[in-house]
Amino acid sequence: MDKFREECGVFGVYGHTEAANLTYLGLYALQHRGQESVGIAASSGDHLQLHKAVGYVADNFEEATFARLAGMSAIGHVRYSTAGASGLNNAQPILIDCAHGEIAIGHNGNLVNAQELRDRLVSQGSIFQTTSDTEVLLHLYARSKAASIEDALIESVSQAQGAFSLVLLTKDRLIAVRDPHGFRPLTLGKLGDAYVVSSETCALDLIDATWIRDIEPGEMLVIGPDGPKSLHPFPPAPSAHCIFEHVYFARPDSYVFGQSVNEVRTEFGRRLAREQPAVADVVVPIPDSGVCAATGFSEESGLPLKMGLIRNHYVGRTFIEPHQKVRHFGVRVKLNPVRSILKGQRVVLVDDSIVRGTTSRKIVKMVRAAGATEVHMRISCPPTISPCFYGVDTPRRSELIGATHTIEEIRRYIGADSLGYLTVDGLLTAVGPTREAYCTSCYTGRYPVAFPNNEAAYLQLALKLTE
Ligand code: SF4
Repeated sequence: MDKFREECGVFGVYGHTEAANLTYLGLYALQHRGQESVGIAASSGDHLQLHKAVGYVADNFEEATFARLAGMSAIGHVRYSTAGASGLNNAQPILIDCAHGEIAIGHNGNLVNAQELRDRLVSQGSIFQTTSDTEVLLHLYARSKAASIEDALIESVSQAQGAFSLVLLTKDRLIAVRDPHGFRPLTLGKLGDAYVVSSETCALDLIDATWIRDIEPGEMLVIGPDGPKSLHPFPPAPSAHCIFEHVYFARPDSYVFGQSVNEVRTEFGRRLAREQPAVADVVVPIPDSGVCAATGFSEESGLPLKMGLIRNHYVGRTFIEPHQKVRHFGVRVKLNPVRSILKGQRVVLVDDSIVRGTTSRKIVKMVRAAGATEVHMRISCPPTISPCFYGVDTPRRSELIGATHTIEEIRRYIGADSLGYLTVDGLLTAVGPTREAYCTSCYTGRYPVAFPNNEAAYLQLALKLTE
């Protein structure tokens, strides 16, 4: 599908006899944030143990794995690579042993100055084992002469710029760190006497943990034998929460940045209906990403909401395509139209984004072929005109249809009768009084943290523009 790719998810438990098992469950709930690799590091109290694998959470852990990961604290990570190639080598957590002792790290986000830091470290003799930006933090940490683990960590993390929600594990501490802009979510919960940190609250729900609060932007929370200790060691910076978490990434049953994703996403749909109304018979979401916004569109417009496209949730990565060419095949494997809903109807299709337009074009064709008389595409965010440098895998600017074509050109390309996007103001109004706290760079091209000049070199994983 033509989507921005998820980033990563992090999770951690401190002070529970089944820390690794709970971390496994937490990662299971965060699977939508990364499907390429998974890992858990656990502390026995004396040593850290690590298990990493390529693929889904559910496919990579068995009883024997948990026996090896015994201990009262653990951290975990699901990854979709935003920097560094994918594969086991770049899977996280990354575990090292250094002068400060053993430490494991899981990172959600992207460091905009990673290459610069890496070049400096390599010129000073560092040998890197991965191509991930996260490893840079560990090298800086290992080289620190600071006397305490906290001070060494502060010294290393202070040199990083960009987006980072981190979970770190030492033999007797779990540490959560969020960058001063608060790009990526990170939240704190409790399960009995145990502490839990997670990218999203949906993972707290799964293990019956109670949400306490978000880790604050710029906060370093150290949870150790004496309980949690909150530090704010970094210079404050303007908040820049990723609005795309609300548009697409986060699960609708989560709260991120203090707000219900479902509520915000539904409000995007209501505002979209006000800004971009359509004369039509039925509102059809493109599942799953368009469902909340379509609900809002339907509520506001009074048009009935019907599931005119059905998604197959069981498409695995090893799916083999037939040699014979089948019309709309790539899309139809995932989505199939419901003719009884679409036939003879003027349809409003609601989705959360158009990245390159190729998938939207196929869906519009498919809906027409199923009998729709008109197709009106509505998008619950503004045109994406700029790449992300803060942990989301986007194509480069030249590959974003919103950056290179007018809305009328896009409409013609995807073959819709009309096309309407939510405005930036509509997007920000929907998040309410916290609107100033959001990053909207991919819609505005205005970046809160400067990024390297060589965009092409930076976007190592730019999506390929193939059909
Ligand atoms: S550029 Fe877009 S995707 Fe990236 S952090 Fe900002 S809002 Fe999120």
